[in-house]
Amino acid sequence: MIKEKIQQLSANIFNEVVANRRHIHAHPELSFHELETSVFVANKLEELGLEYHKMADTGLVALIKGDKPSDRVVALRADMDALPITEANDVPYKSQNNGVMHACGHDAHTSSLLGTAKILTELKSEFAGTVKLIFQPAEEKLPGGASLMIKQGVLENPKPQAVLGQHVMPFIDAGKVGFRAGKYMASTDEIYVTVKGKGGHGAQPQQNVDPVIITAHILTALQQVVSRFADPKSPSVLSFGKVIANGATNVIPNEVYLEGTFRTMDEKWRTDAHIRMKKMAEGIAESMGGSCEFNIMKGYPFLINEEKLTEATRSHAEDYLGKENVLDLDIWMAAEDFAYYSQVANSCFYRLGTRNESRGITSSVHTPTFDIEEDAFKISTGLMAYLAVKQLGN
Ligand SMILES: [Zn+2]
Ligand SMILES: [Zn+2]
Repeated sequence: MIKEKIQQLSANIFNEVVANRRHIHAHPELSFHELETSVFVANKLEELGLEYHKMADTGLVALIKGDKPSDRVVALRADMDALPITEANDVPYKSQNNGVMHACGHDAHTSSLLGTAKILTELKSEFAGTVKLIFQPAEEKLPGGASLMIKQGVLENPKPQAVLGQHVMPFIDAGKVGFRAGKYMASTDEIYVTVKGKGGHGAQPQQNVDPVIITAHILTALQQVVSRFADPKSPSVLSFGKVIANGATNVIPNEVYLEGTFRTMDEKWRTDAHIRMKKMAEGIAESMGGSCEFNIMKGYPFLINEEKLTEATRSHAEDYLGKENVLDLDIWMAAEDFAYYSQVANSCFYRLGTRNESRGITSSVHTPTFDIEEDAFKISTGLMAYLAVKQLGN
């Protein structure tokens, strides 16, 4: 039985996967600068006798062909970049690059996919179809490694019928995974606004144009884009976390600067909302005698897990791990560049539990104390291998 063989192979490589993860964790590199990580992955692929080619500078793509004939292709994706965070964990594999840390678990994704590659390589005679391994750069930074890899043809020659991605989740216990069919994560856009007025003495408002009051109206009015114009069935979030009015108790400033984020799960609405927000802010500023520069930097699209693929993948996961270890996920308004794959190919992005409360491993991703329970590798490598061969029709 292929499942038992995969479980055995996965147990055999556990220590190696942990060692690889610790090496990558200790040597984190920022988005688009994954040079050593890329060489590390390339060497491991070579050890497995796999040919690879480079894409988007530091990205790598390799194929594992099953010996049995089949045209089917499944792609497995891992990201490789770290974050500009100083690690606060006192662990033997602590980051050696000051100010840079694998605080989103991409070290785990990369080492796990290398483990999956090893399992599938040893299993070649047992399955039909092709597995495409994607090691991508820069998940954490716009425009996103995924978008560059896709532009450079990562989803062509051969074209996968499905793309699977796995991401650590510190809110789920190690040993379990989570799935959600349909829309799962949000699109994200950054908003930069400068509201311009005419500053002066706070005691003489009639001689000035107060950008602080204009901003107050704009901030309140923009919330109505979400509450009155968005379809209540589809989530939208608008938050402004930065508002700078550099005046004083008795000084009205010349301008106010704002930064915010807009997130949703519908591409048409996303475009409409951009136009509406800009028009509303500019209109309010103008009506009050000022002006407004409203700029939006578009980020990642929303992430959608294709229903049929996700249902099938979920049921294969239940088969591999047992029903009790496969959970349902709620939607999450964070963003992820795997969304780019999901917009153009049938895709499934699932969560790997990495929490272990008894060892204090509970911190959220993107924090200086984030870590993973490495026992998660006891299931992650084999599960992905199993999902891949099942997706290929074996
Ligand atoms: Zn992240
Ligand atoms: Zn991440």
